[in-house]
Amino acid sequence: MLLQVRDLNVTLPDQGQRLHAVRGIDLDVAAGETLCLVGESGCGKSMTALALMQLLPRGAKLAASELRLGDLDLASLSEKKLSGIRGRRISMIFQEPMTALNPVFTIGDQLRAVYRRHTGASAGAAQARAIEMLESVGLTNAALRMRQYPHQLSGGLRQRVLIAMALMCEPEMIICDEPTTALDVTTQAQILHILKEAQVSRNMGMIFITHDLGVVARIADQVAVMYAGRIVERGPRQSVLRTPIHPYTKGLIASVPKPQGDKPGTARLASIPGNVPAFHQADARCPFLSRCALRMEACFTEPPPIRQLPSGQQVSCHLPLPAQEAQSQ
Ligand code: SF4
Ligand code: MG
Repeated sequence: MLLQVRDLNVTLPDQGQRLHAVRGIDLDVAAGETLCLVGESGCGKSMTALALMQLLPRGAKLAASELRLGDLDLASLSEKKLSGIRGRRISMIFQEPMTALNPVFTIGDQLRAVYRRHTGASAGAAQARAIEMLESVGLTNAALRMRQYPHQLSGGLRQRVLIAMALMCEPEMIICDEPTTALDVTTQAQILHILKEAQVSRNMGMIFITHDLGVVARIADQVAVMYAGRIVERGPRQSVLRTPIHPYTKGLIASVPKPQGDKPGTARLASIPGNVPAFHQADARCPFLSRCALRMEACFTEPPPIRQLPSGQQVSCHLPLPAQEAQSQ
């Protein structure tokens, strides 16, 4: 396994208490595989990504029984070692490319700097590599783009620059946090295509964070559904999307506007009533309890059991499994 995470926890300071933002999650990503982390905003997806990059905000605390990238134990590395690994072995692409690019340096300055820092290459070699990478993500006039500043590029072009930057040193693993959310639909489709192609051709592992199930359907191999800091359901894309088991996953899928039926624009996303709760204490009960229409007595008293299904799905819920699935338990 390329990336292996066990019992990852992140807490943040919040008005004198600790907010439990990520609660005991496990992740496995193989080389050449895309894992989509799905859920509403505020459910811990971005915090999970930042924990994997060891880029958590000040005051955050991370604990994990395992946090490995290939042969590296990420949790035990010094900041100096980590900065040699970020961008070289594991890269991240953020939602808003403007925050990841420095406004006072040209695109070329920034691309060359990343490559030279990690490889010690000459300025000329870094220039050639940067142009090659810009062209590989579909940028025309790469030599001209190299001389431009971030504000001179559109959102879609900036995101391509960031993808080129993330791929400069051929990382084994790439983490994308809603990289297409700020873009128009056509540009979104192009960026997704570029990322997926880059991932497959390089046999990279990819974690792709999104709240958009349409994106999941297009690019995921595996899906993990997060709710209030926990993974409530996971499994192969087809099983999770076609036969979701957890009431939260079902709600997410049911809230996607259908192409037929409702008039365009009338269907509502995120129609599950209520909000993602914030957890201050260690509460082992189901995080979806306050919003679940199917909750029963056990849900109030016992932590939900983790169930393994023959489809490869894993669900954390008290509900009885569908008949044919339960038989083969
Ligand atoms: Fe609903 Fe209970 Fe399942 Fe939680 S464990 S999703 S409250 S049925
Ligand atoms: Mg986020």
